[in-house]
Amino acid sequence: MSNAEIAQRLTALAQMLQAKGENPFKVRAYRRAARTLEAYDESIHDLVQTGADLTRIPGVGKGIASALREIVSSGTLGQLEMLLSTVPPEVAALNEYPRLDPRRAARVFKKLKISRVSELKENFEEGVIGKVFGARMEDHFRAAFRTHHQILLDDADILADKLGRYLQTRCGVDRLEIAGAVRRRVEVVDEIAFLIATDDFLRTRDALARYGGGLALLQSSGREATYQLPASVTLKICAATENAWGTALVLLTGSESHLEELQKLGGLARRSKNEAEVYTTIGLSWVPPELREGRGETVLAAHDELPTLVERADIRGDLHLHTTASDGHNSIEEMAEAAKTRGYKYIGITDHSQSLRIAGGVTVEALWKQIRRIDKLNARDLGIRILKSAEVDILADGSLDYPDDLLAELDYTVCSIHSRFRLGKAEQTDRIRRAMDHPAFTILGHATGRLLLKRTGYDLDLERIAEHAKETGCFFEINADPDRLDLSADNVRRVRAAGVKIAICTDAHRTSGLDYIRCGLDVARRAGLEKTALLNTLPWPQLRRALKR
Ligand SMILES: [Zn+2]
Ligand SMILES: [Zn+2]
Repeated sequence: MSNAEIAQRLTALAQMLQAKGENPFKVRAYRRAARTLEAYDESIHDLVQTGADLTRIPGVGKGIASALREIVSSGTLGQLEMLLSTVPPEVAALNEYPRLDPRRAARVFKKLKISRVSELKENFEEGVIGKVFGARMEDHFRAAFRTHHQILLDDADILADKLGRYLQTRCGVDRLEIAGAVRRRVEVVDEIAFLIATDDFLRTRDALARYGGGLALLQSSGREATYQLPASVTLKICAATENAWGTALVLLTGSESHLEELQKLGGLARRSKNEAEVYTTIGLSWVPPELREGRGETVLAAHDELPTLVERADIRGDLHLHTTASDGHNSIEEMAEAAKTRGYKYIGITDHSQSLRIAGGVTVEALWKQIRRIDKLNARDLGIRILKSAEVDILADGSLDYPDDLLAELDYTVCSIHSRFRLGKAEQTDRIRRAMDHPAFTILGHATGRLLLKRTGYDLDLERIAEHAKETGCFFEINADPDRLDLSADNVRRVRAAGVKIAICTDAHRTSGLDYIRCGLDVARRAGLEKTALLNTLPWPQLRRALKR
């Protein structure tokens, strides 16, 4: 039995426990364990058979370990069978979509007077669920019904890391390079692709098929194989010889339109050892993988005019951070220390503003206190400058969520929308433009509100907002949270076209969140940004001037 099949039973059990109103911690533990197993490299089946200690798998405690043993030895789970036989048939049928929350499904059943999963799906597709139950509910059903298999780039990185190690240690692979959409740093991917060198492709192919207790082989030829991974994306390996490595890597990295352009220039006709040679033989400079999307990069490469893409070392600080004052997990001092060890010169503390109560919004008095505390910390010379700021809610009418005298004390603000996502396009656009008219508005936070694979974001006219930002001296951010990556690379290009600078911000809620800066850098690089296009590449004296309106 493969890890994928075992994980599927755990997810099914979690769903039925949820239907029975079981302890949510228990439900969550089963769901989490299922996700871990989906990406686990060793075969759970083999581990059970050899009597290994399953609790050394992250997220697997004694209870889940014994469930795993039962699944492997009997092919099923007594508790799951029992639950399935005692719940009403329409609830048992939800098992077809194990990510579906049965309580939410029950609410829809009741209100719409329906009883079948197929009707649930129809209503979702026709937009009825969104209209009747609101955006959150619609997001949930979207995620649960999703059949197009994609994962976030950040999750793909973790998976690719494990797969790469497995290929090198267990499958006789001498050399390997990640390729495809992961190498182009596309924010959501449906395939993980490796270029490999191996003496015996068939042996490598069959060894890899044993990953995680078994992967389904979807397709195979003399030097290529595609598998189905339990995390729902596909895995592709492609073998190349040393002499053709460069050409093969270019081909496997894609995108289609980039390859078409190279094809037209005759760039794929001969075998090259390295990538640079593929490009130079047709008179182009080497194109960074992030730019290989067929957006005119070959023309720039022909004139040696490709941008010098921003790098991690160019970033001097992070301007969107939460602390324990709102919904963060670390103190100002801890965030400052963590930023300092990452080589930053400044950070901005942007806790939530007063109206956002669910995220521990900071009251007016508490923010005054925080301002004075930061002044004291800066006076101590911590080796990093702490900027006084806040993530200020843009209220429904476009006003800001703090009084003017308080806003005037801040070094800058990140202003964001956290409410009324469903406003019409014109109203939403006007709301943000009106907010930008306030002299204390500095950076627009997560401009479109999208959540990758979950929520499309609010309807707005980004070009008009960017124009207004240019007129009023405001900025945008690339929110580097891997779930958001908002702005997208396309939207970054739009904002840059209006001549507006952008900050890459992590929106970190704990010290480790600072490392998501790499995800924001991926977006910036895909948009072709040089360091001069960014706000937080500036040294403090220049940044200070830039932040003044
Ligand atoms: Zn926010
Ligand atoms: Zn935030």
